[in-house]
Amino acid sequence: MAHVSRRDELEGGLARVRESIAGAAADAGRDPGEVTLVVVTKFFPASDVRLLAELGVTDVGENRHQEAEAKAAECADLGLRWHFIGGLQSNKAAAVAAYADVVESVDRRKLVAPLSKGAHQCDHAVDVLLQVSLDPPDREGRSGADPADVPALAAAVEEAGLLRLRGLMAVAPLGEDPAAAFARLVEVHAGLLADHPDATWLSAGMSGDLEHAVRAGATHVRVGSAVLGSRPTNH
Ligand SMILES: *Cc1c(COP(=O)(O)O)cnc(C)c1O
Repeated sequence: MAHVSRRDELEGGLARVRESIAGAAADAGRDPGEVTLVVVTKFFPASDVRLLAELGVTDVGENRHQEAEAKAAECADLGLRWHFIGGLQSNKAAAVAAYADVVESVDRRKLVAPLSKGAHQCDHAVDVLLQVSLDPPDREGRSGADPADVPALAAAVEEAGLLRLRGLMAVAPLGEDPAAAFARLVEVHAGLLADHPDATWLSAGMSGDLEHAVRAGATHVRVGSAVLGSRPTNH
């Protein structure tokens, strides 16, 4: 068998994912150009990020602060947009704002002041998505804000300097039809848009459910394993 380089693997993965996005967009009568592919590079080396940039990727996602900070520094010459998509501790939030162009996982008010402070320290604006939980309220390990808390959280982000409220992010709950979960997300988003018409971004969809998300109206999909292969551990 011919040797398949890592570049070829990534190119193949990207082509398949872009085809899925295009197919789902066509189903929904949407322009696939409305959907930004954020390639989730967590657990993969900076050399993969470099290859992805060569292959036309513009946006990458990371979920752990230390790893993200190191990779963003190593790849600073590539001009990529870095999305922080992981659980965020308030004592790390200012440091995340230093390299993240987009923080997708803002799920409580406590994060707002340190993010804004970090943005001021580096003198650059940070795009913010509010992470909404689509799980039932009693689900253990639930991450994301309760939909009822979104208006107050949105107001706090709008009031903070150098944070730009862009929209919502969510992960479909395990064991539920993703189409039903994303339909709820779209309703929450409609409520947000009524008060914040510029908060048009909707980040939803991962390797396993990106087509449902694009059909529901996602503007950003966060795709890891379908592009890069399976991660060493299940994160
Ligand atoms: C890891 C991760 C993804 C990507 O998951 P895949 O199933 O590998 O596509 C997307 N969103 C979040 C929040 C993640 O942590």
